[in-house]
Amino acid sequence: MKRKFLILLSTLFAIAAITLVIIQIAQMQASAKMSDNLFNISVNNSIDEVFTQLDQMKVEDYVSQKERYKVLQFRRIDNLNEKMQDLIRNNSELFYDEHRIIFGISTQDSALQLPKANLTDQEEMVLSQYNTLLSARNRLMSKINYSNEQYKKTVNNHSIDPTTLNFPLLDSLIREELIINGVDIEPTIGILETEMDTLYYCSNVNDSTELRNTPYKYTFHANGIVSDENLYLVLSFPSSPIILSSDANKNTVLSIFMIVLISALFVFSIRTLWTQRKLDEMKTDFINNMTHEIKTPIATIGLACEMLQDNTIINDQETRSNFVNIINDENRRMRVLIETILQSSKMANKNFSLSLKEVDINQEVTTALKSFQLMIKNKNGMLETDLQPISGILYADQLHISNMIHNLVDNAIKYSPNEPHIKVTTNQEKEWIVLKVSDNGIGISKENQKHIFEKFYRVHTGDRHDVKGFGIGLNYVYQVVALHKGKIAVESEVGQGSTFIIHLPLA
Ligand code: ADP
Repeated sequence: MKRKFLILLSTLFAIAAITLVIIQIAQMQASAKMSDNLFNISVNNSIDEVFTQLDQMKVEDYVSQKERYKVLQFRRIDNLNEKMQDLIRNNSELFYDEHRIIFGISTQDSALQLPKANLTDQEEMVLSQYNTLLSARNRLMSKINYSNEQYKKTVNNHSIDPTTLNFPLLDSLIREELIINGVDIEPTIGILETEMDTLYYCSNVNDSTELRNTPYKYTFHANGIVSDENLYLVLSFPSSPIILSSDANKNTVLSIFMIVLISALFVFSIRTLWTQRKLDEMKTDFINNMTHEIKTPIATIGLACEMLQDNTIINDQETRSNFVNIINDENRRMRVLIETILQSSKMANKNFSLSLKEVDINQEVTTALKSFQLMIKNKNGMLETDLQPISGILYADQLHISNMIHNLVDNAIKYSPNEPHIKVTTNQEKEWIVLKVSDNGIGISKENQKHIFEKFYRVHTGDRHDVKGFGIGLNYVYQVVALHKGKIAVESEVGQGSTFIIHLPLA
């Protein structure tokens, strides 16, 4: 797939995915707004219903328990006053006669005066009735502070004094109504006087600031009378009101799920496309490298064979053996190469299994190194070994262990552009064989160390095309070590050389 086409495809895909996500979000917002409106309507209806209920109640039903007693006393005083006024109205000649006046017509006046004239029995009785009512009323008045205008207002006008309200009753009325109207979030309820900024009641003191700034603010009224312009019933709900209907809830969850799914699919598809493209590039690289890697030794071998047939060197043993060595070297390289590719693809097969037998690691190292000696000598290099005796038994697949050593040593020489100094050591650490292959080559940066064991990964060498490879050698080594339940690590500094450390478990 062409890079430009892939970018175009990714962009279109991104636009489509983003548009879908935007549409989903817009729909979610619209449905949230609708839910908000629905929520507000439900709250308003609930409060209206609460006020209607208050209207239907008697004042003493919605004032607090403590105040109820006083309200009842006021009612009784009022009753007594009315009765006294009735007596006065029905016996006005007794109460208003200038000569026989007992006291002024005001029933509030408690100064009882003696009659100025003789009274009839009937009049005596009225007067005694009046006196009884009066003393009963005065007794009640002395018990409570009758001059308190608030109570007079409460009793006479049914207007509401915030201090006298039965808050628990009001609170539970509101909560019940909210539930009936489908609002299943617990509100904080308060009675707020805005002029003095006083909260007479607050169901949760932690939310008092929210209550003061809440949009859910209702003028307080009962029995058709608005109590005080500055007195409000206030409600606040935890942050954003939760969607009311379960349908809306389901839709939101579904929308969020779809957004996550679309985003995940988008990322996944784009990643797959780019990986596919990378693999395509790798495949092309692989074929190019492979052709080159095989063409070069074939050409070299062909040339060496031609030279060997040359009559002029037929008796020159040294030159002949040189050419034979070249043929041998190239042949070995091709063998390792093809073996690695073959084994690596075999390992990818699920049914692959190792053929384990007792393997002498030191023997394998010695055999492998023999085939490299000439090559190192030709590069004026040096090969050092330190093979310690191993007491445990290593059960391994000989072919793969041998290929593994070949690959590591081949890399060590390949990536040491100057005179290679290769060191191979083995030793035993408890239940492990430790094999180390070090060189003084170009080294590997920390970033590249993380990737060198990945299939087809090759360190970018810029313009240098002299070191050919496929990027499968180390991946193969990694797989061999893993199949033997071992461990592999690399220690390297750029420009200083590298050491590959392999641990293989002993039986
Ligand atoms: P390649 O065919 O490229 O050698 P490998 O899988 O063997 O593939 O190695 C992967 C990469 O690791 C190489 O491209 C090389 O850059 C780096 N590498 C491997 N061995 C060494 C080493 N001994 N010194 C420096 N770099 C190395």
